[in-house]
Amino acid sequence: MLVTAVECQECNSIVYSRADGDVRSCICGSIMVYGGQNHFRYDAPANSKHQVKKIKVNLSLAQLYEDWDSMKDEFGLITENQDNEVSNVSYTC
Ligand SMILES: [Zn+2]
Repeated sequence: MLVTAVECQECNSIVYSRADGDVRSCICGSIMVYGGQNHFRYDAPANSKHQVKKIKVNLSLAQLYEDWDSMKDEFGLITENQDNEVSNVSYTC
């Protein structure tokens, strides 16, 4: 499925919110995403380098919810060295 995510170009990580109550921040902490995919919101400092993207992940919304609910935290943060989560990053924005 496609998820709305924010790429932080300062720490080269991509974050997205998995569920309504999920709050995630990128590695350097400047980007914060929340609200799940239905109510997606994010905070970023005005001068930070970041880009909002649609990315494709091989996961269902239920899997994302379960990952958040069980606090496994396997998903929601994608770093340069860990791109198995994304099958095909598509740059629609
Ligand atoms: Zn960052």
